Amino acid sequence: MKKYQVLLYYQYVTIENPEQFAKEHLALCKSLNLKGRILVAGEGINGTLSGLTEDTETYIDAMHNDSRFKDTLFKIDQADGHAFKKMHVRSREEIVSLSLEDDINPHELTGEYLSPKDFREALMDDNTVVIDARNDYEYDLGHFRGAIRPDIRNFRDLPQWIQDNKEQFMEKRVVTYCTGGIRCEKFSGWLVREGFKDVGQLDGGIAMYSRDPEVRGDLWDGMMYVFDERLSVPINHVEHVVIAKDWFDGEPCERYCNCSNPYCNRQMIASEENEHKYLRGCSAECRVHEANRYVVEHELSHDQWEARLNALGESLAKETV
Ligand SMILES: [Zn+2]
Repeated sequence: MKKYQVLLYYQYVTIENPEQFAKEHLALCKSLNLKGRILVAGEGINGTLSGLTEDTETYIDAMHNDSRFKDTLFKIDQADGHAFKKMHVRSREEIVSLSLEDDINPHELTGEYLSPKDFREALMDDNTVVIDARNDYEYDLGHFRGAIRPDIRNFRDLPQWIQDNKEQFMEKRVVTYCTGGIRCEKFSGWLVREGFKDVGQLDGGIAMYSRDPEVRGDLWDGMMYVFDERLSVPINHVEHVVIAKDWFDGEPCERYCNCSNPYCNRQMIASEENEHKYLRGCSAECRVHEANRYVVEHELSHDQWEARLNALGESLAKETV
């Protein structure tokens, strides 16, 4: 039994005075030595936290004792330590943004909730289109077999992408999924409003699908991207298929790192070997950038830096002299 837990949850519910709520909630979280990120808005709460098992259980009890959150579903992972460095509770306009002029309230309009078992059937149905409602870099690390990958860097760009690609799935049943379900509540509601006739969403998201004792993450390929220090977690407990590819050589790989140029910070998949070979820089420009973090971390002298670049057929010279 591991000593820590990581929680993921959300609740669409009216929160009066979210700013005040955020302040008090931060105090609660700190008193329980929790770390993580929570967004609060008039429309609800969206959080991910880590802490000692007993502290996270106390937090869940405290939430369930509040009538607004009595039905909140917590997805729980065991962990060896904290998954965050700090504790933030922030008050925002929305807990999830689709940048819509006329926002969706999932209590009024949302797609049909599908159990993991029904979702699995939808995955195998030829007349159903399954759309991944996450960002492209999340998809690239792992996704449901056959799911459509919208070419977007940000969730708020999804409506435009759908409008541009509408003909492909207007006449079909459309089913969506995301990490924990929060994005699909709005997105599927928006699809209904746009005129899609038969819209479904994976209830509880990939996180619950993975935990379902019957489906056990079946038909998921790769790993699931998570927004904490773990970076990714396994989903499919039936079989594991690696689909992600190394940024540098295209070999199968599931190791994430950020570009060493802090102004780029691109998230890329790379083996440890290639991380060192390429000084963790996603491009020649990033490898010679004066603020390169890899060079700082490894205390490379100017000559050592130059020698490493020369081995790649590159040089510092024209950039820095
Ligand atoms: Zn870069």
